[in-house]
Amino acid sequence: MASSNALLLFAQAIVYFAVMMSLLRARRAIGIGVFMCALGVMHFLETYLAAVFYIELPFGIVSPGSTVLFSGKLLMILLLYIREDAQIVRQPIYGLLIGNFLIVALVMILRNHETIQVAVGRLPDIAFVDEIGWLMVWGTILLFIDAIAIIVLYEKIGDLFGRHLGLRFLISGAIVLTFDQAGFFLALHIVTGAPLQVFFGGWAAKMVAVVVYTALFVAYLKYFSSRERWLTNRPFRDVFNELTYRERYWDLVEATSRDHLTGALDRRLYDKDAPKIVKANLKDGRPLTMLVIDIDHFKRVNDQHGHETGDKVLKSISGILLDNLRSDDHLYRFGGEEFVLLCERLAPEGAVSLGERLRRAIERQSQYLLPEKITVSIGVSSLTDDGETLEQLFQAADQRLYKAKSSGRNKVLGPDLS
Ligand code: GH3
Ligand code: MG
Ligand code: MG
Repeated sequence: MASSNALLLFAQAIVYFAVMMSLLRARRAIGIGVFMCALGVMHFLETYLAAVFYIELPFGIVSPGSTVLFSGKLLMILLLYIREDAQIVRQPIYGLLIGNFLIVALVMILRNHETIQVAVGRLPDIAFVDEIGWLMVWGTILLFIDAIAIIVLYEKIGDLFGRHLGLRFLISGAIVLTFDQAGFFLALHIVTGAPLQVFFGGWAAKMVAVVVYTALFVAYLKYFSSRERWLTNRPFRDVFNELTYRERYWDLVEATSRDHLTGALDRRLYDKDAPKIVKANLKDGRPLTMLVIDIDHFKRVNDQHGHETGDKVLKSISGILLDNLRSDDHLYRFGGEEFVLLCERLAPEGAVSLGERLRRAIERQSQYLLPEKITVSIGVSSLTDDGETLEQLFQAADQRLYKAKSSGRNKVLGPDLS
């Protein structure tokens, strides 16, 4: 009996994973909404099962609701984050939370109805609805914390296990689901008086679920998807930066005019606004620096991998640049694969180290884009030391860029600071 229970759970996990992964995979063709609705609609069943549906396994009592569906949902949220970004993944996280509050609010009104009986024994069980209502709220608050925790953990341990995707997935899932089991059991115990056995059984089952889902994920990577495209290694703080700064940046950019391929400000804005920025900073005596950034041997990328891949690389590199901007920075696509970064309130030493940071970030993250390394060379100039107009700043930075190129590339050259 217990072994057939285990088999049935395994079958559920496979069906769940196969359908959800297919929806995630097909999101460009059918829209991400399909995946998100499927994720959300499972929630009621999951809570219902967690409230009343328990089975016995060799290591204890477990609920398919939390073992298969809840663990699965959390890992699906992580996979969605890996494939998209924080802005997309917060949509189901907030949606589930708000949807559950809505359910509770509606039940509070519904329970005041005087209901009639349409068939013998068919009366609404309000006490039961209340019970799962509160379990849902608690469960989704936990999910909210879990979802953020699993993403942060996944990124954090990326520093240790970088390319071992399965391991990162396994460890972050195991830690967060352990925390989750403690939290969910607490509520279940208070609301339904569930015995301690349920905690251990549920915990062990969740650990098995993480192992099974990780195995399915690794198999998926091996047979259906290229590993490279699943690798993210966003710096830890970007998880939150993306939630805040990057979004504001895009709003702003949307309202002005952005270059469609790279998301950087376009050349027209460089001609129109950059001279004004220089003038204003000169007038107020504030430091201003310019970085001219050019991708090394980009023609080769196009020649060897095609123009389309070239475009993707260009986009990824500008994404890295955008991710590292402060609010006083202005990134322009100056032309082709050349960018100008104008940094207000940044002294030359700071600009050179910013350039170094960008150069290193691109060098490091480019390994996930193409088999060969992609690097950039950067020339830095600063206001008044190198001139007082935009043209003079550009000329000085461009000359240093040229020097960086001719002395081996993958370098940042700034003004002589000695
Ligand atoms: P280096 O800068 O290191 O001297 O070599 P490079 O090969 O990068 O030389 P350069 O900067 O002069 O060449 C830029 C090349 O970038 C020319 C063009 O093929 C390519 N390029 C420019 N804009 C785009 C674009 O929007 N998409 C793609 N795919 N390629 C572009
Ligand atoms: Mg170049
Ligand atoms: Mg160029």
